[in-house]
Amino acid sequence: LNIAKNTKTVEYIFFDKKLMDKLEYAKKIESMFYKALENEEFQVYFQPKISLNNYQLAGAEALCRWFHNGKILPPDSFIPILEQSKAICFLDFYMLEHTCMNIRKWLDRGLNAVKVSVNLSRRNLGDMDLLDNILRIIDKYSVPHKYIEIELTETAVDVNFDELKKIVLGLQKEGISTSVDDFGMGYSSLSLIRELPWNVLKIDKSFLPEDMSDKKTTQKLIMLKHVVAMAQDIGLECIVEGIETIDQIKFLKENNCFLAQGFYFDKPMPVREFEDKLAKNPSKD
Ligand code: C2E
Ligand code: MG
Ligand code: MG
Repeated sequence: LNIAKNTKTVEYIFFDKKLMDKLEYAKKIESMFYKALENEEFQVYFQPKISLNNYQLAGAEALCRWFHNGKILPPDSFIPILEQSKAICFLDFYMLEHTCMNIRKWLDRGLNAVKVSVNLSRRNLGDMDLLDNILRIIDKYSVPHKYIEIELTETAVDVNFDELKKIVLGLQKEGISTSVDDFGMGYSSLSLIRELPWNVLKIDKSFLPEDMSDKKTTQKLIMLKHVVAMAQDIGLECIVEGIETIDQIKFLKENNCFLAQGFYFDKPMPVREFEDKLAKNPSKD
């Protein structure tokens, strides 16, 4: 009944056992979540961001992995469920805190730490104390603000523009970068980009053709090229995610985009493995 009520395109649906299975799976995830959080079953994986100027480590994204009963659950199997309630907010703050703990450790050990971006679900936007809560965690570990970036997804459907503006402006004042995640995946809004002082535009992999020699790719390439140019002209840093081939890298470089993230370079990796990369990372100074 709820599905029929909440889906705008249909007025009725037929019952199907699969609907029940999905519902039961979601209930199971919800009931396991808080205990799992307490038991620290969630781990931060880091996926490197690479500078295409010198192919060196330029940053990383913190991505969540759930270790449960000897198995790793990928985010797609639980994040959409947690996003239906406030549960996702607890996970986002857990991830921010663990990211800060790691950065603090790297700085104390004298490693050349890089800026790490943390995903923040739109669900957090209703929280009146959101900015204070983010700052409290970062400052608890005395992490210099330049090491943190907050990624917010670009979805126009549930946009609460005033709340979004408040948080992006607030973070900017504190010297914390913000990025528009998955740009191009949903209903990309130009006013969202124009009205707010974002630092980074993170272009979704759906803009990337898989096979660069395929003729159908022309349209995607034209769009990608102009989105990169537009972003840079209005002063946004540009990164493309989901890079899997050398042809895609060539194309990015030809179009002045010099930051990339994707399996071609690295998959998201556990902290130990990422620390090995940091140890080899030459100092910027
Ligand atoms: P995202 O923030 O857009 O993260 C990038 C996703 O693309 C990651 O999937 C990453 O593993 C994947 N990816 C990176 N390079 C490639 C590539 O070359 N090819 C392909 N096919 N995929 C690539 P992952 O880790 O499964 O995360 C999926 C989504 O789950 C994330 O998308 C993000 O929206 C969400 N997520 C993950 N961790 C968190 C979290 O702590 N909080 C919140 N709110 N969302 C999270
Ligand atoms: Mg992201
Ligand atoms: Mg993304």
